[in-house]
Amino acid sequence: MVDRLAPGATIGILGGGQLGRMLALAAAQLGVRSHVLCPDPHSPAFDVSARHTVADYEDETALRAFAEAVDVVTYEFENVPARTAEIVAAAHPLYPGAKALATTQDRFVEKSFVAGLDIPTAPFRVVGSAAELAEALAELGSPAILKTRRFGYDGKGQVRIGPGDSPEEAWAQLGGAPAILEGFVGFSQEISIVGARGRDGAFAAYDPCWNEHRGGILDVTRLPSGLPAATEQIAIAAARRIAEALDYVGVIAVEMFVVGEGEGASILVNEIAPRVHNSGHWTVEGAETSQFEQHVRAICGWPLGSTLRRGRIEMRNLIGTDIEAWPEILATPGAHLHHYGKAKARAGRKMGHVTRVFTGS
Ligand code: AMP
Repeated sequence: MVDRLAPGATIGILGGGQLGRMLALAAAQLGVRSHVLCPDPHSPAFDVSARHTVADYEDETALRAFAEAVDVVTYEFENVPARTAEIVAAAHPLYPGAKALATTQDRFVEKSFVAGLDIPTAPFRVVGSAAELAEALAELGSPAILKTRRFGYDGKGQVRIGPGDSPEEAWAQLGGAPAILEGFVGFSQEISIVGARGRDGAFAAYDPCWNEHRGGILDVTRLPSGLPAATEQIAIAAARRIAEALDYVGVIAVEMFVVGEGEGASILVNEIAPRVHNSGHWTVEGAETSQFEQHVRAICGWPLGSTLRRGRIEMRNLIGTDIEAWPEILATPGAHLHHYGKAKARAGRKMGHVTRVFTGS
């Protein structure tokens, strides 16, 4: 029997961006309070949470006070420092746990872990110097992608190496940071599996999401994925194996490449996000339980909700000045606008999203 929290409990959220904001909104609907800790005094999640703390993730005094004031702790970004996780976990459970963080913070550890479960990935080599990069390039061939082991997101910390490109230059471009080299995958499609695992080990996945990126940032998510049912089931089973091997609690997103077409399609795992994910935003209007509510249910020890999809889906990110279209979006029947309340629309910044659910199709 898992000890479950009751409405009236407080969840602590590390990170105050749009994911924290949407988690806090979902928690409020279930009678659960949120306390958000984030160094940025203008954090979007602060607007909608009962309490917040402005502090650095290394501020041990603030972290202890935060952890004491809540019933369970979660986070909206995977780069939570190990020491931060240790401090909060000493007071109350941290979900997803330390194993999920340690595995997903380092691309080499993550890919080795996935490969160790006999789940296919792009071919990869760990690279610690320009000479090792040259060796790895000779083995994997080009094109290939050099990625920093840590702190990469939205295509940052990556260099594509084409035939004839100099390994020394690519190495210098990443500033000599520890890296992995990945063979280039000629994918037909990118998908993600957003799923959740409860404290009792129950697992529930949403239908696979078909994701299109623009400039390294997610642009549009569509459902259904268009993949054969058998391929979808293989992708969901891989995400479930990953969650189980991590003793996972909460929502997890597993990004994958599809290679081949139709019945010949197969999947390679690219990346694991130990949190709610941009490709799951459609679930707010498009599924019986949103990914945010699902995460709150999981970390509170509550039963997972139904992941049933309500129709054909299109979720479009509003990046930078895209957000200026909000009046037209509001005037479009069936378009659900989400504005994250960020003051400045910098280029490449996720400012909001819009979801459309087409029922009866
Ligand atoms: P990542 O940061 O690993 O999620 O990579 C960002 C994007 O770069 C992915 O969504 C893909 O579009 C592309 N990409 C990453 N790795 C590879 C690869 N090995 N082969 C082809 N494209 C890749």
